[in-house]
Amino acid sequence: MGMRPGWVGGLVEETFFVACSAHESRKKNEKNIFCLACRTSICPHCAPAHRHHPLIQVRRYVYNDVVRLDDLERLIDCSFVQPYTINSAKVIFLKPRPQSRPFKGSGNVCLTCDRILQEPFHFCCLSCKACMHAGGSCHDAGRRPVQHPLHVR
Ligand SMILES: [Zn+2]
Ligand SMILES: [Zn+2]
Ligand SMILES: [Zn+2]
Repeated sequence: MGMRPGWVGGLVEETFFVACSAHESRKKNEKNIFCLACRTSICPHCAPAHRHHPLIQVRRYVYNDVVRLDDLERLIDCSFVQPYTINSAKVIFLKPRPQSRPFKGSGNVCLTCDRILQEPFHFCCLSCKACMHAGGSCHDAGRRPVQHPLHVR
């Protein structure tokens, strides 16, 4: 299964864990599900309307959006993206995390944002991989994660 930039781009650009505008008055209306068919984030109250669509659960880990590797692997090729083990589950970060200081020196770093990685991984998150597959535009932009074009809408 190859990379399908369409919905992957949507997944990494989408904002999760904000209130669903369609269900403002409901409890637990945080958007924590991504619908691959509609390429949009939805809340648990929206989910029944999308039950025939492929859905992926997004989780929160220290202010970062993550998805379970198991969930993602069924849908796309996650090779070279470094998984992290959180609560005994392997997860993948959707977006690059801010770095306290730029990494200087040799070592294995993310090809897009220079975050230090374990061997043999090349990307710290799905966004960095999607960026590379989209033509490497943010890589060519000088490897400055601050100017990452996958901004939050
Ligand atoms: Zn849908
Ligand atoms: Zn909703
Ligand atoms: Zn990265």
